[in-house]
Amino acid sequence: MLKDVLIKRKVYTSEEHQMIRQVTKDFIKQEIAPFHEQWEKDKMVSRQVWEKAGEFGLLCIDMPVEYGGGGLDFSYSALVVEEISRHGYTGPGFFLHSDIVAPYILRYGTEDQKKEYLPAMAKGEKIAAIAMTEPSCGSDLRALRTTAVDKGDHYLVNGGKTFITNGYMADVTIVAVRTNPGTDDEGISLLLMDSDLEGFTKGTPFDKVGMKAQDTCELFFDNVKVPKDRLLGEEKMGFKIMMHELARERLIVAIMAIGGSLGAIEATMQYTTERTAFKQPIAKFQNTQFKLAECVMKLQMHQSFVDDCTLLLSDGKLSAEAASMAKCSATDMHGEIADECVQLHGGYGYIWEYPIARMYADNRVARIYAGTNEIMKLLVSRGIFKDML
Ligand SMILES: Cc1cc2nc3c(=O)[nH]c(=O)nc-3n(C[C@H](O)[C@H](O)[C@H](O)COP(=O)(O)OP(=O)(O)OC[C@H]3O[C@@H](n4cnc5c(N)ncnc54)[C@H](O)[C@@H]3O)c2cc1C
Repeated sequence: MLKDVLIKRKVYTSEEHQMIRQVTKDFIKQEIAPFHEQWEKDKMVSRQVWEKAGEFGLLCIDMPVEYGGGGLDFSYSALVVEEISRHGYTGPGFFLHSDIVAPYILRYGTEDQKKEYLPAMAKGEKIAAIAMTEPSCGSDLRALRTTAVDKGDHYLVNGGKTFITNGYMADVTIVAVRTNPGTDDEGISLLLMDSDLEGFTKGTPFDKVGMKAQDTCELFFDNVKVPKDRLLGEEKMGFKIMMHELARERLIVAIMAIGGSLGAIEATMQYTTERTAFKQPIAKFQNTQFKLAECVMKLQMHQSFVDDCTLLLSDGKLSAEAASMAKCSATDMHGEIADECVQLHGGYGYIWEYPIARMYADNRVARIYAGTNEIMKLLVSRGIFKDML
Protein backbone atom coordinates (compact mmCIF):
# COMPACT_ATOMS: atom_id res chain seq x y z
CA MET A 1 0.00 0.00 0.00
CA LEU A 2 1.26 3.45 -0.91
CA LYS A 3 0.46 4.87 2.52
CA ASP A 4 2.57 2.15 4.17
CA VAL A 5 5.54 2.90 1.92
CA LEU A 6 5.66 6.65 2.52
CA ILE A 7 7.34 7.54 5.81
CA LYS A 8 5.37 9.03 8.70
CA ARG A 9 4.99 12.74 8.12
CA LYS A 10 6.10 15.44 10.53
CA VAL A 11 3.15 17.65 9.59
CA TYR A 12 -0.61 17.15 9.82
CA THR A 13 -0.21 14.95 12.89
CA SER A 14 -3.04 16.03 15.21
CA GLU A 15 -6.60 14.72 15.37
CA GLU A 16 -7.73 18.17 14.34
CA HIS A 17 -5.70 17.80 11.15
CA GLN A 18 -7.47 14.54 10.37
CA MET A 19 -10.80 16.24 11.00
CA ILE A 20 -9.98 19.12 8.64
CA ARG A 21 -8.80 16.64 6.02
CA GLN A 22 -12.13 14.83 6.23
CA VAL A 23 -14.09 18.10 6.05
CA THR A 24 -12.07 19.06 2.95
CA LYS A 25 -12.77 15.70 1.33
CA ASP A 26 -16.50 16.05 2.05
CA PHE A 27 -16.46 19.56 0.66
CA ILE A 28 -14.72 18.43 -2.54
CA LYS A 29 -17.20 15.61 -3.01
CA GLN A 30 -20.31 17.71 -2.40
CA GLU A 31 -19.42 21.19 -3.54
CA ILE A 32 -16.64 20.93 -6.14
CA ALA A 33 -16.68 17.61 -8.02
CA PRO A 34 -20.29 17.82 -9.32
CA PHE A 35 -19.77 21.31 -10.74
CA HIS A 36 -16.19 21.46 -11.95
CA GLU A 37 -16.92 20.41 -15.54
CA GLN A 38 -19.48 23.19 -15.93
CA TRP A 39 -17.09 25.71 -14.34
CA GLU A 40 -14.47 24.74 -16.92
CA LYS A 41 -16.95 25.70 -19.65
CA ASP A 42 -17.82 28.94 -17.81
CA LYS A 43 -14.11 29.72 -17.22
CA MET A 44 -14.95 30.49 -13.63
CA VAL A 45 -16.41 28.83 -10.53
CA SER A 46 -19.70 29.87 -8.88
CA ARG A 47 -19.99 32.48 -6.15
CA GLN A 48 -21.82 29.84 -4.20
CA VAL A 49 -18.76 27.60 -3.86
CA TRP A 50 -16.92 30.47 -2.16
CA GLU A 51 -19.75 30.97 0.32
CA LYS A 52 -20.00 27.24 0.92
CA ALA A 53 -16.24 27.07 1.56
CA GLY A 54 -16.76 29.81 4.14
CA GLU A 55 -19.56 27.80 5.78
CA PHE A 56 -17.34 24.70 5.89
CA GLY A 57 -14.64 26.79 7.60
CA LEU A 58 -12.15 26.20 4.80
CA LEU A 59 -11.25 29.84 4.05
CA CYS A 60 -8.71 31.90 5.99
CA ILE A 61 -8.07 29.01 8.35
CA ASP A 62 -4.94 30.53 9.85
CA MET A 63 -6.35 34.03 10.28
CA PRO A 64 -7.13 35.08 13.87
CA VAL A 65 -10.62 34.33 15.16
CA GLU A 66 -11.20 38.04 15.85
CA TYR A 67 -11.03 38.63 12.09
CA GLY A 68 -13.36 35.74 11.29
CA GLY A 69 -10.60 33.19 10.62
CA GLY A 70 -10.14 29.71 12.03
CA GLY A 71 -7.40 30.73 14.45
CA LEU A 72 -5.30 27.69 13.47
CA ASP A 73 -1.69 27.60 12.30
CA PHE A 74 -0.35 27.49 8.75
CA SER A 75 -0.19 23.68 8.65
CA TYR A 76 -4.01 23.52 8.57
CA SER A 77 -4.16 25.82 5.55
CA ALA A 78 -1.42 23.79 3.92
CA LEU A 79 -3.39 20.60 4.46
CA VAL A 80 -6.47 22.02 2.72
CA VAL A 81 -4.34 23.18 -0.23
CA GLU A 82 -2.71 19.76 -0.48
CA GLU A 83 -5.99 17.85 -0.33
CA ILE A 84 -7.73 19.97 -2.98
CA SER A 85 -4.67 19.61 -5.24
CA ARG A 86 -4.60 15.87 -4.66
CA HIS A 87 -8.09 15.66 -6.14
CA GLY A 88 -7.01 17.76 -9.12
CA TYR A 89 -9.59 20.54 -8.83
CA THR A 90 -7.93 23.79 -9.75
CA GLY A 91 -10.97 26.02 -10.34
CA PRO A 92 -11.52 27.54 -6.90
CA GLY A 93 -8.64 29.89 -6.13
CA PHE A 94 -9.03 29.49 -2.38
CA PHE A 95 -5.27 29.17 -1.85
CA LEU A 96 -4.56 32.58 -3.34
CA HIS A 97 -7.38 34.22 -1.41
CA SER A 98 -6.75 32.61 1.99
CA ASP A 99 -3.07 31.83 1.96
CA ILE A 100 -1.59 34.65 -0.06
CA VAL A 101 -3.86 37.73 0.02
CA ALA A 102 -5.24 37.39 3.58
CA PRO A 103 -1.75 37.26 5.17
CA TYR A 104 -0.80 40.50 3.35
CA ILE A 105 -3.83 42.23 4.86
CA LEU A 106 -3.26 40.73 8.31
CA ARG A 107 0.40 41.68 8.38
CA TYR A 108 0.39 45.08 6.72
CA GLY A 109 -3.23 46.28 6.90
CA THR A 110 -4.61 48.92 9.22
CA GLU A 111 -7.14 47.85 11.82
CA ASP A 112 -9.94 49.22 9.61
CA GLN A 113 -8.67 47.34 6.57
CA LYS A 114 -8.45 44.10 8.52
CA LYS A 115 -11.98 44.51 9.87
CA GLU A 116 -13.38 45.43 6.49
CA TYR A 117 -11.85 42.63 4.44
CA LEU A 118 -10.80 39.63 6.52
CA PRO A 119 -14.14 38.57 8.05
CA ALA A 120 -15.90 38.93 4.68
CA MET A 121 -13.10 36.93 3.03
CA ALA A 122 -13.38 34.18 5.65
CA LYS A 123 -17.10 33.89 4.87
CA GLY A 124 -16.48 33.81 1.12
CA GLU A 125 -18.55 36.98 0.71
CA LYS A 126 -15.60 38.89 -0.70
CA ILE A 127 -13.19 37.21 -3.11
CA ALA A 128 -9.60 38.44 -3.18
CA ALA A 129 -6.80 38.60 -5.75
CA ILE A 130 -3.31 40.05 -6.04
CA ALA A 131 -2.06 41.83 -9.15
CA MET A 132 1.67 42.28 -9.71
CA THR A 133 2.25 41.09 -13.28
CA GLU A 134 1.77 43.50 -16.18
CA PRO A 135 1.67 42.83 -19.93
CA SER A 136 5.22 44.15 -20.25
CA CYS A 137 6.73 42.64 -17.09
CA GLY A 138 6.37 39.54 -14.96
CA SER A 139 9.73 38.26 -13.79
CA ASP A 140 11.13 41.77 -13.62
CA LEU A 141 8.65 43.29 -11.18
CA ARG A 142 10.80 46.35 -10.65
CA ALA A 143 9.85 47.41 -14.17
CA LEU A 144 6.13 47.70 -13.45
CA ARG A 145 4.46 50.70 -15.04
CA THR A 146 1.04 51.11 -13.42
CA THR A 147 1.13 54.54 -11.81
CA ALA A 148 -0.62 55.94 -8.75
CA VAL A 149 -0.25 59.69 -8.58
CA ASP A 150 -0.79 61.37 -5.23
CA LYS A 151 -3.79 63.73 -5.49
CA GLY A 152 -4.15 64.65 -1.84
CA ASP A 153 -6.99 62.49 -0.52
CA HIS A 154 -6.64 59.83 -3.23
CA TYR A 155 -4.26 58.19 -5.71
CA LEU A 156 -5.07 58.45 -9.41
CA VAL A 157 -4.27 55.04 -10.87
CA ASN A 158 -3.58 54.31 -14.55
CA GLY A 159 -2.23 51.18 -16.18
CA GLY A 160 -3.07 47.51 -16.32
CA LYS A 161 -2.30 44.03 -15.02
CA THR A 162 -2.48 40.61 -16.59
CA PHE A 163 -2.78 36.90 -15.73
CA ILE A 164 -4.57 37.67 -12.45
CA THR A 165 -5.84 34.57 -10.61
CA ASN A 166 -9.39 35.11 -9.23
CA GLY A 167 -9.16 38.39 -11.17
CA TYR A 168 -12.58 38.30 -12.80
CA MET A 169 -14.58 37.38 -9.69
CA ALA A 170 -12.49 39.32 -7.17
CA ASP A 171 -14.18 42.00 -5.07
CA VAL A 172 -10.87 43.29 -3.81
CA THR A 173 -7.43 43.14 -5.40
CA ILE A 174 -4.06 44.08 -3.98
CA VAL A 175 -2.50 46.05 -6.82
CA ALA A 176 1.20 46.84 -7.06
CA VAL A 177 1.63 50.40 -8.35
CA ARG A 178 4.37 52.94 -8.83
CA THR A 179 3.70 55.84 -6.49
CA ASN A 180 6.93 57.59 -7.44
CA PRO A 181 7.12 57.38 -11.21
CA GLY A 182 10.65 57.41 -12.58
CA THR A 183 12.22 55.58 -9.63
CA ASP A 184 13.07 51.88 -9.33
CA ASP A 185 11.72 49.46 -6.73
CA GLU A 186 11.79 52.19 -4.09
CA GLY A 187 8.75 53.72 -5.77
CA ILE A 188 6.47 50.66 -5.57
CA SER A 189 3.47 50.61 -3.23
CA LEU A 190 0.46 48.35 -2.71
CA LEU A 191 -3.18 49.45 -2.91
CA LEU A 192 -6.33 47.59 -1.93
CA MET A 193 -8.66 48.18 -4.86
CA ASP A 194 -12.37 47.43 -4.66
CA SER A 195 -13.79 46.20 -7.95
CA ASP A 196 -16.61 48.73 -8.05
CA LEU A 197 -14.31 51.75 -8.36
CA GLU A 198 -15.06 53.87 -11.42
CA GLY A 199 -12.54 53.31 -14.20
CA PHE A 200 -11.56 49.81 -12.97
CA THR A 201 -12.53 47.22 -15.61
CA LYS A 202 -11.66 43.60 -16.31
CA GLY A 203 -11.07 41.47 -19.38
CA THR A 204 -12.99 38.23 -19.85
CA PRO A 205 -11.18 35.21 -18.36
CA PHE A 206 -8.41 33.82 -20.58
CA ASP A 207 -8.72 30.57 -22.53
CA LYS A 208 -5.88 28.68 -20.90
CA VAL A 209 -4.08 25.41 -21.61
CA GLY A 210 -5.18 24.16 -18.18
CA MET A 211 -6.81 25.42 -15.00
CA LYS A 212 -9.79 26.14 -17.19
CA ALA A 213 -12.25 26.82 -14.37
CA GLN A 214 -9.95 29.47 -12.93
CA ASP A 215 -10.96 33.07 -13.77
CA THR A 216 -7.51 34.37 -14.74
CA CYS A 217 -7.86 37.74 -16.47
CA GLU A 218 -6.54 41.20 -17.29
CA LEU A 219 -7.32 44.30 -15.22
CA PHE A 220 -7.46 47.84 -16.60
CA PHE A 221 -7.19 51.08 -14.64
CA ASP A 222 -8.32 54.28 -16.33
CA ASN A 223 -8.07 57.27 -13.99
CA VAL A 224 -9.23 55.19 -11.01
CA LYS A 225 -9.49 57.26 -7.83
CA VAL A 226 -8.29 55.09 -4.96
CA PRO A 227 -8.80 56.68 -1.53
CA LYS A 228 -5.59 57.15 0.44
CA ASP A 229 -6.80 54.88 3.24
CA ARG A 230 -6.56 51.94 0.79
CA LEU A 231 -2.76 52.05 0.89
CA LEU A 232 -1.57 48.65 2.21
CA GLY A 233 1.57 49.00 4.29
CA GLU A 234 3.73 52.04 3.95
CA GLU A 235 4.18 53.95 0.74
CA LYS A 236 7.25 52.80 -1.28
CA MET A 237 7.51 49.58 0.77
CA GLY A 238 5.60 47.50 -1.79
CA PHE A 239 8.59 45.77 -3.35
CA LYS A 240 10.05 44.72 0.00
CA ILE A 241 6.65 43.45 1.16
CA MET A 242 6.14 41.42 -2.01
CA MET A 243 9.60 39.86 -1.80
CA HIS A 244 8.91 38.86 1.79
CA GLU A 245 5.46 37.41 1.08
CA LEU A 246 6.52 35.58 -2.08
CA ALA A 247 8.31 32.96 0.04
CA ARG A 248 4.96 31.88 1.43
CA GLU A 249 3.36 31.93 -2.02
CA ARG A 250 6.15 29.72 -3.38
CA LEU A 251 5.79 27.21 -0.59
CA ILE A 252 2.03 27.03 -1.27
CA VAL A 253 2.79 26.22 -4.92
CA ALA A 254 5.21 23.49 -3.76
CA ILE A 255 2.50 22.06 -1.48
CA MET A 256 0.12 22.00 -4.43
CA ALA A 257 2.75 20.08 -6.40
CA ILE A 258 3.01 17.50 -3.60
CA GLY A 259 -0.77 17.03 -3.45
CA GLY A 260 -1.03 16.95 -7.24
CA SER A 261 1.75 14.39 -7.59
CA LEU A 262 0.18 12.12 -5.00
CA GLY A 263 -3.18 12.42 -6.78
CA ALA A 264 -1.60 11.56 -10.14
CA ILE A 265 0.15 8.50 -8.70
CA GLU A 266 -3.02 7.31 -6.97
CA ALA A 267 -5.12 7.73 -10.12
CA THR A 268 -2.50 5.82 -12.14
CA MET A 269 -2.21 2.99 -9.64
CA GLN A 270 -5.96 2.58 -9.84
CA TYR A 271 -6.04 2.73 -13.63
CA THR A 272 -3.15 0.34 -14.20
CA THR A 273 -4.64 -2.33 -11.96
CA GLU A 274 -7.93 -2.16 -13.91
CA ARG A 275 -6.67 -1.85 -17.47
CA THR A 276 -5.44 -5.06 -19.09
CA ALA A 277 -3.11 -5.74 -21.99
CA PHE A 278 -1.70 -9.08 -23.11
CA LYS A 279 -4.21 -10.73 -20.74
CA GLN A 280 -2.94 -9.11 -17.57
CA PRO A 281 -3.33 -5.82 -15.68
CA ILE A 282 -0.78 -3.37 -17.00
CA ALA A 283 0.32 -2.84 -13.37
CA LYS A 284 1.87 -6.32 -13.62
CA PHE A 285 4.41 -5.18 -16.22
CA GLN A 286 7.72 -4.44 -14.62
CA ASN A 287 7.94 -1.18 -16.58
CA THR A 288 4.71 0.06 -14.96
CA GLN A 289 5.88 -0.93 -11.50
CA PHE A 290 9.32 0.64 -11.94
CA LYS A 291 7.90 3.86 -13.36
CA LEU A 292 5.48 4.20 -10.45
CA ALA A 293 8.20 3.25 -7.96
CA GLU A 294 10.34 6.07 -9.39
CA CYS A 295 7.42 8.48 -9.06
CA VAL A 296 6.90 7.48 -5.43
CA MET A 297 10.62 7.89 -4.66
CA LYS A 298 10.60 11.41 -6.09
CA LEU A 299 7.43 12.25 -4.24
CA GLN A 300 8.85 10.98 -0.95
CA MET A 301 12.03 13.07 -1.23
CA HIS A 302 10.11 16.21 -2.06
CA GLN A 303 7.36 15.62 0.45
CA SER A 304 9.90 15.39 3.27
CA PHE A 305 11.58 18.63 2.23
CA VAL A 306 8.32 20.51 1.66
CA ASP A 307 7.00 19.30 5.03
CA ASP A 308 10.16 20.71 6.66
CA CYS A 309 9.54 24.00 4.89
CA THR A 310 5.92 24.00 6.13
CA LEU A 311 7.17 23.63 9.71
CA LEU A 312 9.76 26.37 9.14
CA LEU A 313 7.11 28.74 7.81
CA SER A 314 4.86 28.00 10.78
CA ASP A 315 7.81 29.05 13.00
CA GLY A 316 8.46 32.17 10.89
CA LYS A 317 11.85 30.78 9.81
CA LEU A 318 11.42 29.87 6.13
CA SER A 319 14.13 31.51 4.01
CA ALA A 320 13.56 32.85 0.50
CA GLU A 321 16.09 30.33 -0.81
CA ALA A 322 14.42 27.30 0.80
CA ALA A 323 11.01 28.42 -0.50
CA SER A 324 12.50 28.85 -3.99
CA MET A 325 14.12 25.39 -3.86
CA ALA A 326 10.81 23.84 -2.78
CA LYS A 327 8.82 25.62 -5.50
CA CYS A 328 11.25 24.92 -8.31
CA SER A 329 12.09 21.32 -7.51
CA ALA A 330 8.59 20.20 -6.48
CA THR A 331 6.91 21.69 -9.56
CA ASP A 332 9.55 20.15 -11.86
CA MET A 333 8.87 16.84 -10.16
CA HIS A 334 5.10 17.27 -10.56
CA GLY A 335 5.58 17.84 -14.28
CA GLU A 336 7.68 14.68 -14.60
CA ILE A 337 5.24 12.58 -12.59
CA ALA A 338 2.18 13.85 -14.47
CA ASP A 339 3.94 13.06 -17.76
CA GLU A 340 4.82 9.49 -16.71
CA CYS A 341 1.28 8.97 -15.42
CA VAL A 342 -0.25 10.11 -18.71
CA GLN A 343 2.04 7.63 -20.49
CA LEU A 344 0.85 4.79 -18.26
CA HIS A 345 -2.77 5.67 -19.12
CA GLY A 346 -2.05 5.21 -22.84
CA GLY A 347 -4.53 7.00 -25.13
CA TYR A 348 -7.01 7.61 -22.32
CA GLY A 349 -4.40 9.75 -20.63
CA TYR A 350 -4.91 12.26 -23.41
CA ILE A 351 -8.70 12.43 -23.06
CA TRP A 352 -10.00 15.34 -20.98
CA GLU A 353 -12.62 13.36 -19.06
CA TYR A 354 -9.82 11.33 -17.47
CA PRO A 355 -8.56 13.19 -14.37
CA ILE A 356 -4.94 12.53 -15.35
CA ALA A 357 -5.35 14.59 -18.53
CA ARG A 358 -6.58 17.58 -16.53
CA MET A 359 -3.80 17.09 -13.98
CA TYR A 360 -1.22 17.05 -16.78
CA ALA A 361 -2.49 20.30 -18.31
CA ASP A 362 -3.20 22.05 -15.03
CA ASN A 363 0.19 21.55 -13.45
CA ARG A 364 2.22 23.03 -16.32
CA VAL A 365 1.76 26.61 -15.17
CA ALA A 366 3.21 25.88 -11.74
CA ARG A 367 6.68 26.14 -13.29
CA ILE A 368 5.74 29.60 -14.56
CA TYR A 369 3.66 31.42 -11.96
CA ALA A 370 4.68 32.66 -8.51
CA GLY A 371 8.03 33.39 -10.17
CA THR A 372 9.30 31.13 -12.96
CA ASN A 373 11.57 28.23 -12.07
CA GLU A 374 14.42 30.11 -13.75
CA ILE A 375 13.86 32.99 -11.31
CA MET A 376 13.86 30.43 -8.45
CA LYS A 377 17.32 29.29 -9.58
CA LEU A 378 18.41 32.91 -9.74
CA LEU A 379 17.35 33.43 -6.11
CA VAL A 380 19.06 30.26 -4.90
CA SER A 381 22.27 31.06 -6.79
CA ARG A 382 22.29 34.61 -5.43
CA GLY A 383 22.17 33.12 -1.95
CA ILE A 384 24.95 30.65 -2.72
CA PHE A 385 27.31 33.31 -4.09
CA LYS A 386 26.37 36.04 -1.62
CA ASP A 387 29.48 38.01 -0.58
CA MET A 388 31.63 35.95 -2.99
CA LEU A 389 31.17 37.71 -6.32
C1 LIG B 1 -2.42 30.96 -14.93
C2 LIG B 1 -1.60 32.08 -14.41
C3 LIG B 1 -1.93 32.67 -13.20
C4 LIG B 1 -1.20 33.76 -12.73
N1 LIG B 1 -1.61 34.40 -11.59
C5 LIG B 1 -1.02 35.59 -11.25
C6 LIG B 1 -1.56 36.40 -10.20
O1 LIG B 1 -2.55 36.03 -9.53
N2 LIG B 1 -0.98 37.57 -9.93
C7 LIG B 1 0.11 38.02 -10.64
O2 LIG B 1 0.58 39.10 -10.35
N3 LIG B 1 0.65 37.28 -11.63
C8 LIG B 1 0.10 36.08 -11.97
N4 LIG B 1 0.62 35.33 -12.99
C9 LIG B 1 1.78 35.83 -13.71
C10 LIG B 1 3.05 35.03 -13.47
O3 LIG B 1 3.51 35.21 -12.16
C11 LIG B 1 4.05 35.46 -14.55
O4 LIG B 1 3.57 34.95 -15.80
C12 LIG B 1 5.45 34.97 -14.26
O5 LIG B 1 6.01 35.62 -13.14
C13 LIG B 1 6.38 35.15 -15.45
O6 LIG B 1 6.32 36.45 -15.96
P1 LIG B 1 6.10 36.68 -17.54
O7 LIG B 1 4.91 35.89 -17.95
O8 LIG B 1 6.10 38.13 -17.79
O9 LIG B 1 7.36 36.02 -18.22
P2 LIG B 1 8.74 36.74 -18.53
O10 LIG B 1 9.22 37.47 -17.34
O11 LIG B 1 8.59 37.47 -19.81
O12 LIG B 1 9.68 35.48 -18.77
C14 LIG B 1 9.77 34.77 -20.02
C15 LIG B 1 10.88 33.74 -19.89
O13 LIG B 1 12.12 34.41 -19.62
C16 LIG B 1 12.72 33.86 -18.47
N5 LIG B 1 13.46 34.87 -17.71
C17 LIG B 1 13.04 36.11 -17.34
N6 LIG B 1 13.99 36.73 -16.63
C18 LIG B 1 15.04 35.86 -16.53
C19 LIG B 1 16.33 35.92 -15.90
N7 LIG B 1 16.72 36.96 -15.20
N8 LIG B 1 17.15 34.84 -16.01
C20 LIG B 1 16.74 33.75 -16.72
N9 LIG B 1 15.54 33.64 -17.32
C21 LIG B 1 14.70 34.68 -17.22
C22 LIG B 1 11.56 33.33 -17.64
O14 LIG B 1 11.97 32.36 -16.69
C23 LIG B 1 10.66 32.77 -18.73
O15 LIG B 1 11.11 31.48 -19.07
C24 LIG B 1 -0.07 34.21 -13.45
C25 LIG B 1 0.30 33.58 -14.65
C26 LIG B 1 -0.46 32.55 -15.14
C27 LIG B 1 -0.09 31.93 -16.47
